[in-house]
Formats: sequence, structure tokens, C-alpha cells
Amino acid sequence: MRLHNWWTIFKILVLYYVLSGSAWAQNASSLVDLMSPAGYQTYREVVQLQRNGNLDIAQAMASELLTNARENGDFTDEAAAQRLIGLVATQRHQYDLAEQALTQAEAYFQSIDEYLLLAQLNADLGTLKRIQGRHATALSRFYNALSMFTAFEDSEGIAAQKSNIGQVLEQMGQFDEALEAYSEALEVQRQHNDQHGIMGTLFNMAEIYRELDQLDFALTYFNDALAQAKQLNILATIADCYTSIGMVHRAQQNYAQAQQAFLDAIALYEQLNLQRDADWARTGLGESLVGLGKIERGVSMLQNVLTRAQARANVSLTTETRLALTRVYIDQQNWSAAIEQAEVGLQEVIQRAEGKRQSQFEDLRVTIFANTEQYQRAYEALKNQRAIEETILLQRREAALTKLQSDIEYVRQEQNIALLRKNKAMELSLAEQRNVRNVTLLASLIILLLLCFLLFSRHSHKLRNQQLAGIVKRRTRELEDKNEELQQAYRTLEHMSLRDALTGCYNRHYLDANLPAEINRSLHSYRAAKELGRKPPEQNSLLGFLIDIDDFKTINDTYGHVTGDKVLVQFAKIIAHVFRHSDLQVRWGGEEFLVICRNTLRSDAPDLAERLRSAVAEANFKTQTGAVFKATCSIGFTAFPLDQSDAARTTWEQSFQLADHCLYSAKISGKNCWIGVLSATTTDETDTLSETDTLSENERNIDLGRLSVVTSLNHLSAINWHTDI
Ligand code: GH3
Ligand code: MG
Ligand code: MG
Repeated sequence: MRLHNWWTIFKILVLYYVLSGSAWAQNASSLVDLMSPAGYQTYREVVQLQRNGNLDIAQAMASELLTNARENGDFTDEAAAQRLIGLVATQRHQYDLAEQALTQAEAYFQSIDEYLLLAQLNADLGTLKRIQGRHATALSRFYNALSMFTAFEDSEGIAAQKSNIGQVLEQMGQFDEALEAYSEALEVQRQHNDQHGIMGTLFNMAEIYRELDQLDFALTYFNDALAQAKQLNILATIADCYTSIGMVHRAQQNYAQAQQAFLDAIALYEQLNLQRDADWARTGLGESLVGLGKIERGVSMLQNVLTRAQARANVSLTTETRLALTRVYIDQQNWSAAIEQAEVGLQEVIQRAEGKRQSQFEDLRVTIFANTEQYQRAYEALKNQRAIEETILLQRREAALTKLQSDIEYVRQEQNIALLRKNKAMELSLAEQRNVRNVTLLASLIILLLLCFLLFSRHSHKLRNQQLAGIVKRRTRELEDKNEELQQAYRTLEHMSLRDALTGCYNRHYLDANLPAEINRSLHSYRAAKELGRKPPEQNSLLGFLIDIDDFKTINDTYGHVTGDKVLVQFAKIIAHVFRHSDLQVRWGGEEFLVICRNTLRSDAPDLAERLRSAVAEANFKTQTGAVFKATCSIGFTAFPLDQSDAARTTWEQSFQLADHCLYSAKISGKNCWIGVLSATTTDETDTLSETDTLSENERNIDLGRLSVVTSLNHLSAINWHTDI
């Protein structure tokens, strides 16, 4: 497999993991992940401004963020801007705008399945509903948020919802339950060191204690919340704390401390341009001033607040101020003014069905009527008040029921979410199983491919090895053959260089190479024997036979050259047969042969010559056609050294020339015969020789002294000596 194929598989694997990995992601992002960087920056700033109560700037920036987001088509930024607008509007009691903005943001986060952000929006809408006094809806929203935060184990969110639920319960008059919820919230917040949360919860708990008339507890908690708010430098909350502390002091009739707290609160609200909240503080301040004896200032302050509250249609502040004014007028025994405020206030709260306030007004009316001796009216007011208290108790029971229903709803939703989570988990586990299966399959495939590749390469390797082995074997055989050929060629060459190709006899090269050693050996043994004074070592002589086929030219002419060649071969065989294997049998040239015998007595030479002559004469030579004919040969031979008593006196060349002389003489003496000289001895001319002892003409020609001549001819005199030597 090629490299790029492996690369492709690798890329597929990587892509697969990336894609399958995205399926495991959970939709619990925060805005920092989803918003544009610039948008998120603005968002953070606006949240901070809104928390600090800088609502004008916050609203302006939120609107700008919304406009930019719409221009850029960035839906997340747009939804975030809507949330900010909703939060600011809630704080400004612009309930319709707040609901519209928050609902739009909620719808968007719903569409992209972002559950953490959805939880936050539920909490926001819950707060809006709580402020609007729609307790059941508020509770439902907060429980929704709680379920989602619980599902994502978001402890900060969980704590915030417990706190929110506590606030609703507080408003519903479920103070014990509210305190319980706050305690739970506080525990989680302390675990996570959630400073903001802790501050809010402490404040809320203080409010409950105030409501329950446990003023010392209330003061402690408000002071704790104030310390926290100061540490976090959240001005709006610091101001709220001052207002509440002022309220507690006023209720405890610590008017001087109350005055100081309210003044601090008003200064901060003014700084933050929260006029409405400033007027709430002024209500407390006005009453405190009256308490301090500054009646005129106090009353006029309250009247001013009332006017402004009526102008702004701020009903709760209007009621609160009427209550304060009624109390002040009662104090001043200004009964007509007191009853006027009380009656108007009562009608307003009856319209709004605010039982608690109604009860407060009826209580004040009882005091006024009793003091102005209108006992019947006082009695009726008291009856009304009791009826209202009963209604409140009833309402509290209903509220408890609402809470119970909310609790049940919460459990149901929790189960729903758990089920959804389980399904999601199952989905994920199935996806994971599928992943594992696919990966296993892919891995198996790769392993299989690798295995195939390995097997294939092993197989081809084996095949290649076999091929190589075959080639090596063939080459080795070829080499062996070549070697054999070479050896053969070498042998042939050696043979050729040492032997005659036709007859197989040694050639002259061989003789030239070997003869000098033979001559030396012979001479050496003669010299040694002579030096030692021993008999000449006759067995160390060399006998040289020069043989020539008679009338060979005629044979060639008569039977052809091929037959001539065959005669030469057969002739050589006869020589080999007659002589010993150790004798040097040399083709001297043409139809002439030279045989050199070692370790042979020279007295045996005539016998050897005769055996050869007769063997040739008796042999039947054959023509190509099979016809038989006869042939003869002539032989001349000598011994070396010629002079045994003085071996160094004659040379091998002289011996050979003498053999040739004998052969020639045999030819001219009639052929088919042999002539040999067995030795040559020195003759002293001055010696007295007999007549018969005189050297023959032939011996004189040869000049080697007296020759011991032998022949196959009848008599020595029958030899026709060749004269030219
Ligand atoms: P003589 O009896 O005096 O020796 O006469 P001859 O005819 O044998 O001698 P001569 O020297 O006149 O002729 C020798 C011939 O041998 C001549 C030559 O053609 C022939 N001859 C030499 N070598 C070969 C050979 O190898 N094969 C054949 N077929 N003939 C050869
Ligand atoms: Mg010849
Ligand atoms: Mg011849």
C-alpha cells in the first residue's frame, strides 16, 4: 500500500474523531463563549452599571448593543441586549417592556438549546413576576431555573434560586419557609464564597426579621449585608441597607440613628439618580424628623413625597407615605387630617386588595375613632380589621398551598429533567457504542490490511529469495561448468603444449623441458661413481632410439593422408606397446619418433630395437576402407654417455647425432632394419694397434673413438654408412 493511502486513512480517522467529539458537547455555554468579544465587553459593563443602579447609562448602552447586534445580524448579542434591557426595565418598574425583552431573549436561548442561559432568563422573569406580586408564576419560574441549575450542578445558580424563592415566600407571608430557603441559599453561597449572593440573602433575611418584628435580628442582618455591600462597593445596595436600617431604627423609635441612616441612603440614591428609592427613604426620614420634634420639616417632607408619588402613580409609595402621614397626624392629634389620610389610603388598598395595608389602615382608624369618641365607627373598624386578619391568615394558607403546588411542580420538573438527562445519556452512550464499534471496525480493517501487506511482502520476499536461490544455483552450475571447461581447456592446452595432438606422444617442448634433468642425473651418477672409484653405473645410462617409417610418402600417396594419419596413430601405439610407460616417447616430427629409455641396460637396446622393428613389420595397417597393408620402419640408436669410463667426454648432442647417423645409414642400408652404437671408447693413435684394430673410415669420420656398433643386418659390413656427418 502506498504512503498517500495510509495518509488518507489517517485523515478520515481524525475527521471522524472531531465529528463524533462534537456530538458529546453539552449546551451549557456561557455568554462569553457565544457573544462577540466586543458585545460581551459591553454586556459586562452594563451588568455592572445595572447592579450599581446606574440605570440611565445602563439602558443607553444596552440599547446601543441591541442596535449594533441587529445591524451585524448577531442573534446572541441581540438576545443578550434584550436581557439587559429587561433587567433595567424591571428595576425601573417598567413591567411590560421588561416582560417583552426578557421573553424574546428566552425564546432565542430556547431555540439554540442553551440551558444555562435559559435558566438565567427564567430567574430574571421570576424576579419580574415577584415584583409584580404574581407569586405563583414567580415561584414556578424560580423552580424552573432551580431545576436547570441543578441539572448542570451550577451551585451559584442553585443558591440564587433558593434566595429568589425565599423572597417570594416572604412576600407571600410564608416567613418560616422563606427563612429556610434563605438559610439553604446562604449555605451554598458561603461554600462557594459567593459575596454578591451572600449580601443579597443576608438582606432578604433581615427583611423577614423586620416583617416579623424581630427588630434586633433584623438590624444585625442588615448591618451584615451593609458590610458586604461596602466591601463589594455596590452603591445601590449600600443605599438599600441604609434605608432598611433607618426603618428598623424608626420602628425602635431611635429617631436620631434613623435620621442618619436615611440621610446616607438619600445621598447615595441621589448620586445614582434613583429618585423613587430616594423618596422611599424620605418617607422614613420625614417620620423620623417628626419623632425628633422637627414636625413641620417632617410633615412637609412627607407631603412632598406623597405629591411626587401620586404624580408618578407610584401606588406602594403613596400608600406607605399615607400610612406615615396618618401616624404623624395621630401623634399631633390632628384628627381630621389623620382620618382624611387613613380613609383615602384605605380605599386605595381595598382597590388593590392589599390585606396587610388594609389591616394597618383599619388599625389606625380604630385609634382615631376611639380618640374622637366615635365608638360605633371604632368598633366597626376593629371588626373590619379582624376580618382582614382572618383573610390574611386564609391567604397565607392559600399561599402555603401555592407553595406546595410549586413544590410538587418542581419535583415533577426535576423528574422530567432527570428523564431527559437519562435519555440524553442513553443517546450519548449509544453514540459512544457506535463510535467504539466503528473505531473497532476501522482498526480491524487497518490491521487486516497491514496483515495482508505483511503476508504479501513476506510471500514476495520468499519468492524473490527462491528466484535468487535459483539464479545463484544456476550461476554456480554455470560457474562449475565454466570451471570444468576451463580445467578441460587447461588440460587440453597442457596436453597440447606437451603432447602431439595426433598420436598422443610427447612433443619436442616436453623433451626440451625434461631431458636436461635426465642428462644431468645420468652424468651426475657417472661422475659420482668415478669419483668413488666404482664401476660405471650402466643402469643410469640413457638409450635414445630414433625411428622413421619407411616410404611413408608412398603410403600417403597410395592411401591418402587420412590413412597416413591413422598409420601414425597405430605406429605410436606399437611404440607404446614395445617400450615401457616410463620411457619418453616423443614424436620428433613428421613420421619420425624418438624414444628415450631410462634405467635400461644398454645391452638390452638391440633387443628393444628388434622388437619394435618386427612388431611394425608384422602389424596390419588399415586404410579408410578397411583394406590391409604392410609398413616397416628403420631405427638408429645410441647410449649416453657414449664413453662410460669418461662420461663427460661426449655430449648428448653428439649421441643424438650419432643415432641420426645410424638411422640414415639404416635407410640407405635397405630399410626395415636397425643400427646402433652402444659405446665409444678412446683410442690412442700412438698405441700400437693391430691391423684389425685400426679405426674404420666411419669411426674416423665420427671422431669419437672406437664405436661399439650393433645392427639387425647380417653383418656389420652390410651397413652402408652414410658418409656425410
Ligand atoms: P624414407 O623411407 O626414406 O623415409 O621415405 P619416406 O617417404 O618415408 O620419407 P620422406 O621424407 O620422403 O617423406 C616423408 C613424408 O611423410 C612426407 C610427408 O608428406 C609425410 N608426412 C609427414 N608428416 C605427416 C603426417 O603427419 N601425416 C601424413 N599423412 N603424412 C605426413
Ligand atoms: Mg622421415
Ligand atoms: Mg620415412
